[in-house]
Amino acid sequence: MSTAVPILSVEKLAKRFAVPRSLTSRIMGEPPLAVHALNGVNLDVHRGETLGIVGESGCGKSTLARCLVRLLDPDQGVVRFEGKDIATFRQAERRAFNRRVQMIFQDPRGSLNPRMTVRQTLTEALSVHAMRPKAEIPARVMELLDLVRLPADAAGRYPHEFSGGQRQRIGIARALSVEPEVIVADELVSALDVSVQAQVINLLLDLQERLSLTVIFVAHDLRLVRHISHRVAVMYLGQVVEIAPVEALFTAPQHPYTRALLDAAPELDPTRRSRKAAARGELPSPLHLPPGCPFASRCPYVFDRCRVENPLLTPRGAGHRAACHLDALPKPVISSPGVLAESIAVSRE
Ligand code: SF4
Repeated sequence: MSTAVPILSVEKLAKRFAVPRSLTSRIMGEPPLAVHALNGVNLDVHRGETLGIVGESGCGKSTLARCLVRLLDPDQGVVRFEGKDIATFRQAERRAFNRRVQMIFQDPRGSLNPRMTVRQTLTEALSVHAMRPKAEIPARVMELLDLVRLPADAAGRYPHEFSGGQRQRIGIARALSVEPEVIVADELVSALDVSVQAQVINLLLDLQERLSLTVIFVAHDLRLVRHISHRVAVMYLGQVVEIAPVEALFTAPQHPYTRALLDAAPELDPTRRSRKAAARGELPSPLHLPPGCPFASRCPYVFDRCRVENPLLTPRGAGHRAACHLDALPKPVISSPGVLAESIAVSRE
């Protein structure tokens, strides 16, 4: 991997969301509560790579994605773009950042104006950032449709006239219209049928190569993440607990949670999926973070130190880091990780 300055990086990123208090809670004088969505995330994203970010629902991966594109401001920590703190950007830099880093959302229906044709949507995107002289915009709209493999007559149609996969292509075309360098894709295909997912993923892979894009691919589907990513970061309770090149992570995980997550993947071992085990190994509440390792309450290898000291990410091989007090992950214990994997399989649904 390149030793150049990462195109994006985050350091000690923290984000909390206040929980609305009931009247009773106010009268009783109970202290306000907050969901700890991100708890000290450190991460580098290298130019030209696809970084997969995985974890269970509520692990903070979507909050992290939104902080990366400035849709959310973190409470603590720094997001850097090409080494510069994005919170310090003045108007011109901020505008350039907003163009160079684009987000594609899970549900394009929510982000596409239903009253605008595809031509109007793309023309607006091209005009806002003055990407082309006015006279060249119609031709560029056609180029963009061709880029995402939509027919030319799509330009005159409205979002409701398209299938989910086609709408996602329109969302990709709109993101590409401003010629970004980084794409943050949050659950890009999770609302689509499996056959359509493959088409959209293959399109994204093709575009990444042709346009030298950097892609941050946030997803809970490990098959997709393995297929598309160069590196993968695993999140748990608002922290990155393991990050590694994709094959190292999938074949030799170094964190007990990663191993359980892989064990829970239905395509790897469908016979283990069972709702009976859902009551075991619950995710701790993000309202009350446990002291020490966030995974201690579910970990089959927990020992005293884990309950008082939160482990840092430490090297486990080339480009491989894990946050665990164990020097190496023991061979699987037959019963406990299986039960844990089953509970994770249920909580991912
Ligand atoms: Fe398990 Fe302890 Fe490692 Fe946390 S630090 S993952 S509790 S062994």
